[in-house]
Order: sequence, then C-alpha cells, then structure tokens
Amino acid sequence: MTQKFDFHVTATDGAARTGRIHTPRGEIRTPAFMPVGTAATVKAMLPESVRATGADILLGNTYHLMLRPTAERIDRLGGLHRFMNWDRPILTDSGGFQVMSLAALRKLTEEGVRFKSHIDGSSHFLTPERSMEIQRLLGSDIVMCFDECPALPATDAEVARSMALSMRWAQRSRDAFGDRPGHALFGIMQGGVTRELREESALALRAIGFDGYAIGGLAVGEGQEAMFGVLDYAPGMLPEDKPRYLMGVGKPDDIVGAVERGVDMMDCVLPSRSGRTGQAFTRRGVVNLRNARHMDDPRPLDEQCTCPACRSYSRAYLHHVLRSQEIIASMLLTWHNLHYYQELMAGLRGAISEGRLAAFVAAFHAQRAMGDIEPV
Ligand SMILES: [Zn+2]
Repeated sequence: MTQKFDFHVTATDGAARTGRIHTPRGEIRTPAFMPVGTAATVKAMLPESVRATGADILLGNTYHLMLRPTAERIDRLGGLHRFMNWDRPILTDSGGFQVMSLAALRKLTEEGVRFKSHIDGSSHFLTPERSMEIQRLLGSDIVMCFDECPALPATDAEVARSMALSMRWAQRSRDAFGDRPGHALFGIMQGGVTRELREESALALRAIGFDGYAIGGLAVGEGQEAMFGVLDYAPGMLPEDKPRYLMGVGKPDDIVGAVERGVDMMDCVLPSRSGRTGQAFTRRGVVNLRNARHMDDPRPLDEQCTCPACRSYSRAYLHHVLRSQEIIASMLLTWHNLHYYQELMAGLRGAISEGRLAAFVAAFHAQRAMGDIEPV
C-alpha cells in the first residue's frame, strides 16, 4: 500500500480530457462516473454486478455510515472495502452536504456542525477533524474536505460567508488528513454561481494544495443553464494536472455537458434511484416502464444494450415486475441504468482520445431527440 495516487491526462479534445487515476486499489479511467453506495451498498446490486457494468470506483456517504453502523464498527470489521466486498477504489464524501440536507436541529459554528441523527435522534458533532477521522476509519481512497454548501436560494453575502468558512475548513481538513501515501484528499470549490467567489475559492484551495479538486455547490437546484455557465470557467481555475470532480451530477445530458467543459469525475444517485421507480435511461431518452404502453411489448428495453435486463427480458416483463413490486424490477433496471451510464462514459472517453467528441455529442443529442421506439 505504498504505491502513489496520481493522475495522467492521456488526451484532450477542446476543454475535455481523458486519462487515468492510479491508486493502490486500481485504476480509475476518466471521465469517470461513480455509482453511489450510500449505506455500504449500491441498492439492488451485488458489488461484482456493479463492477460488471464498468464502474472503477464507488462513492460512500460519510453521514449515513457514521450514524449506522458507525465508522468505528466498520474499522473494527476491517474497513469499508472488506465490509461491503468491494476491493476497488472508494471515494467518501465529507458528510457536510448530507448533514445540511437530512439531519435535524443543525447548529453551525466556526468549529463545525452539531446535529441530531435522522435515524434515532442521537446528537453528533461533525468538524473537519472528525470528518477526516471518520473517512480514515472507513479506509476511503479519496477523502473529501469537510465543507458547507449553503441552501438555495441564498444571497451573494451568504454564499460569500459560507465559501470563506469552507476554505478555513479546507485548511483544517488538510492539516488533519496528514500524510497518507496512496490516499488522496480533494478540496472542494464553492462560490455559488458568482465568478469572483469561484475564483477566490480556487485560489484559496490551490494555495493549500490538494490531490484533486471538486466543484461543489452545483446541482442543487440552480438549473442546467446556470450550472453550465459556471462550468464554462470553473474547471479552468483548477490545476490542469489534478482530477476535477463535479459533485452530485447528474442526468446523462448534464454529464455530457460537464465532460465537454473539462470535468473528470462525477457521481449521482439518479441511475440507481430511477431504476427503483421504473425510469430507464436509454440512448433514445428516458423510458418509463410503468407506462401501460409496455404491457404487451415483447421487445427489449433497448435492443442495442447488452445488460441482463435488455438481453433476457421484454418490456412487458419489466412492466409486470414493476407493477407487481417484485424485487427483480429494481435489480434489472438499476443494472440497466448503471450499464447505460458506464457505456456513455466509455463512449466519451473513446471520443476524446480519438478527437471526435463534437461528433459524439451531436449523435448523442440526435438519438435522444428521436424519442422512444413506436409502441407495438
Ligand atoms: Zn440494458
């Protein structure tokens, strides 16, 4: 475990890049999509099935794991990789974002955030130092700085105050993380949709120095146009030789637009969560399999897709198991959606390395514009 964490860009096309992150637990091909394994599981999937879709790395949630089963227990049981049977890289978030969105009775101070668990009402105090300790106990390969993401809508003054606090917490996270060969610490840029604040945040993070840089505070309800507006300049404010991670994104067209603008890593619950509600992502857009039009349809969801749901089952079957609330519905549709996302990432990587990203993106949008196949 002495091997280094490092990143190499192997090709660029416009602002987009493709490359590889090397970690002692394996390689991450970028641009990378990270499925979300909130409670030490990607819901409805075995880890080997997640790997079979093409995922190189998973995301785990500090907030959920610290409350249940607790980081100390996971540490005693050999760390998160062994606990959940995933031996490849894991990125953990800092807990900050979910404390703000899920916990009750939050009290924010310079020191940290005091809150009550949404599970059992127990009291907890999360600080940059405690977040670093929890992520170390989990055995995370990529650790995120503890930060604050202000709830929207927020005034410029509120966004500025919050960003400045996050930059002080970034320094404390860096100090508490220490020197851990083979493990990476990522800083998180904040600043809302204000260019000057993003610039200020980038400068503060670069002065501290991180192994990678996340663009935080987006995909929180600002809309795609505003998000792309920030992504037109924010990646360029970060070091070229470090990975750039856009947190919590997104829909397939968000991902394509982010990659075009120079983002290397993303994560989102959308493919897995939508799978459990009957929404399937396909090259021809979103298909809602709960819809009665699929009831007598013997065709696969997507005849070009090689996932188990498309290879061996009809739309009629998927519709039936969804309507019957059978567990296999979640299993098959989550697999399909994760497969679709990873295939999209592979397509983007190939297009960037061959200098044909513009044509790939044009074909992506043209296929989606066609809409789903005609009903039977
Ligand atoms: Zn499929």
